[in-house]
Amino acid sequence: MTKDAIKNIKQLLETPKQIVIVPHKNPDGDAIGSTLGLYHYLLKHNHIATVIAPNDYPDFLKWMPEESKVLKYDSQKEQSDNLINNADVIFTLDFNALNRAGDMEDVLATSKAVKIMIDHHQQPDSYATYMYSDVSMSSTCEMVYHFIDMLGNKDQIDSDISSCLYAGIMTDTGSFRFPSTTSKTHLVVADLIDKGANHSDIHNHIFDTNSYERMQLLGCALTNLKVLPEYRTAYITLSQDELNQFKFKKGDTEGFVNYALSLNNIIFAAIFIEDSQNNIIKISLRSKGNFSVNEFSRAHFEGGGHTNAAGGKSDLDLKLTIENFISILPSYKNALNNA
Ligand code: 5GP
Ligand code: MN
Repeated sequence: MTKDAIKNIKQLLETPKQIVIVPHKNPDGDAIGSTLGLYHYLLKHNHIATVIAPNDYPDFLKWMPEESKVLKYDSQKEQSDNLINNADVIFTLDFNALNRAGDMEDVLATSKAVKIMIDHHQQPDSYATYMYSDVSMSSTCEMVYHFIDMLGNKDQIDSDISSCLYAGIMTDTGSFRFPSTTSKTHLVVADLIDKGANHSDIHNHIFDTNSYERMQLLGCALTNLKVLPEYRTAYITLSQDELNQFKFKKGDTEGFVNYALSLNNIIFAAIFIEDSQNNIIKISLRSKGNFSVNEFSRAHFEGGGHTNAAGGKSDLDLKLTIENFISILPSYKNALNNA
């Protein structure tokens, strides 16, 4: 971010404003952590701020301070539209294109508010008045920390802000193991712990609150795991029937794709999850090294994300989606074997 942009934003936020903060649809730990972390910071400056999520998110994120104040656009549309239409400032966090906000896209696009993007995804659209985009960052939560620092207010980061930001950095870095984790990330995290984030409690909230059904669903996913050694690829499928059988709840499949990626000599992993309600197959892609699942998803599955983690969708049924996926792989054989 330029010095001028920071100066302007600092000036803008000097007097109380009506502010809306928006994470992407199907928010994850980084999306909810960054929006709530920023929310707590803005409240300290007497702004009237509201986090509006496009839709609901997993229960394992619902321990964050003031999480219960988050509005869900899909069930609280009128109230949300009012807030967005009257907002002076809208922060969009952890996404790079307005369509990632789902049904909020139109009202966000037409809003006259000053828009500030904070995001680490590749190839961002330029809808925002001020763009803080950095694809080298581990997470949007790490960027919110730097954003507050750039405003000269690092000393205002309290234990609520720290807990939210820690949670997002931890989840987006796969507990600090993905290559996006830098020594700077660790310095930020160390400071967040010093400022009151309880890393052990946060880990428990997020990873040690499994239901028995979720473990059974993981068993099913691992049974369905297929390996294509010639493409160093592994994939998992979950049909709607299987999800129903194990009483699927939002967030239950989070991280499953990493089991496919953990296989020896596998550098490309996918999970295909049937969603009968929306008549799509939701796809998560992960890779190791320089094989870009962002490019792969953009080219074939209407999605995107990062080099090593991306999402997408297919309008074909589960069987045809897998056939299509397998038919695409030969054209990537060299890339997969040289990654
Ligand atoms: P996940 O597979 O966990 O849903 O998403 C992996 C990464 O890709 C996340 O950073 C997420 O924000 C991004 N992502 C997921 N789905 C999409 C999509 O449909 N479009 C784009 N541009 N990014 C996505
Ligand atoms: Mn993120």
